[in-house]
Amino acid sequence: MRRVSIFGATGSIGQNTIDLIRRAPEEYDVVALTGGSNIAQLAKDAIALKADIAVTAYPEKLEELQRALAGSGVKTAAGEMALAEAAARPADWVMSAIVGAAGLKPGIVALEQGATLALANKESLVCAGRLLLGTAARSKARILPVDSEHSAIFQGLVGEELSAVERILITASGGAFRDWPLEDLAKATVEQASTHPNWDMGQRITIDSASMFNKAMEVIETREFFGVDPKQIEVLVHPESLVHALVGFQDGALMAHVGAADMRHAIGYALHWPERKPLPVERLDLTRIGQLNFHAPDDQRYPALRLARETMARGGLMGAVFNAAKERALDHFIAGRIGFLDMADLTEWVMAALDREPGLIDASMTLDSVAHVDHLARMAADERVTRI
Ligand code: NAD
Ligand code: MG
Repeated sequence: MRRVSIFGATGSIGQNTIDLIRRAPEEYDVVALTGGSNIAQLAKDAIALKADIAVTAYPEKLEELQRALAGSGVKTAAGEMALAEAAARPADWVMSAIVGAAGLKPGIVALEQGATLALANKESLVCAGRLLLGTAARSKARILPVDSEHSAIFQGLVGEELSAVERILITASGGAFRDWPLEDLAKATVEQASTHPNWDMGQRITIDSASMFNKAMEVIETREFFGVDPKQIEVLVHPESLVHALVGFQDGALMAHVGAADMRHAIGYALHWPERKPLPVERLDLTRIGQLNFHAPDDQRYPALRLARETMARGGLMGAVFNAAKERALDHFIAGRIGFLDMADLTEWVMAALDREPGLIDASMTLDSVAHVDHLARMAADERVTRI
């Protein structure tokens, strides 16, 4: 039996992970499941999977969780500390599927205890890539990518030397607004931004797909995870979302990963790695699909991609600033305080403002320094929004 924990179990990735585990419950010993405010879901899954402990991120939800799990034998806990403690419980495989920078600490703790970390939480690589990879190297723990593009690259590199790689191309659907006239984007609503043409995902990543912030994060994620030069990473708009990424080698060959837009593919690959096992995903009929389209992203439409390049060029703790500013910008957009295009402007403004603070971005990377700049970036974003 493999001991598994799922952080962010109630979310889109978490639920897809649970779907796969429930198909072979005899193979897994579930240690910890964590969630946020959806207590009913968390409790239901904790009972069905016979988890040792269920943790909600929110202390004010603890009582409700305790009531829901009374008599079940599942332990309960709440809050940030409890999440870290749950991550310290010995497990062989840990799914990191919390959304946002909140996923960093549990991921680090899980790696410290030697678990294989299936990483959906791209934010932790964007804000503290070196820290995460350094922790994995020290404790000889493995990180497996779960983001579909990065799983695709990882699969394309099996049996290959990284030195033979010339370039990496990650695809983007273009999101909800890819066909909108530029001048209409400023008026785009939260509701309009929350529908994805091809993927069914959590609300935050769906809006990030419309603004291309998701792809911007993924470019940084590619650089951190695979250690390639930013110049080697290209973004391709591919409306069908069937080719997830391509690896280009020195001999000119391109290896593409083609599959249905179903996250259970990437999750299942990480769950069964290094083996491949049957997965309940659609088998593509290419004769029915007929054609695949690709085009270059329009820089004017998607300023987030430029901000990702600037973040990588600046280095240091700029990734944590970029991520936090972008997370707050998204909060403000969802709350109706700023417009769709203001998200990139606000992120850029915060990056410039914090870069003027002497020594801040160049401080050494620790959990504390990352949390510190994360906090400053959120405050700067809030102040700016209050003023305008
Ligand atoms: P989601 O919003 O559906 O779920 C997020 C989960 O995190 C929930 O369980 C929620 O309770 C929990 N959570 C939220 N805030 C928290 C906090 N402050 N502390 C602790 N837990 C908290 O999100 P999702 O779409 O499943 O995405 C999860 C992660 O996976 C994100 O990093 C996202 O970028 C990444 N990802 C998602 C997809 C996808 O298809 N959904 C694809 C690739 C990568
Ligand atoms: Mg992705």
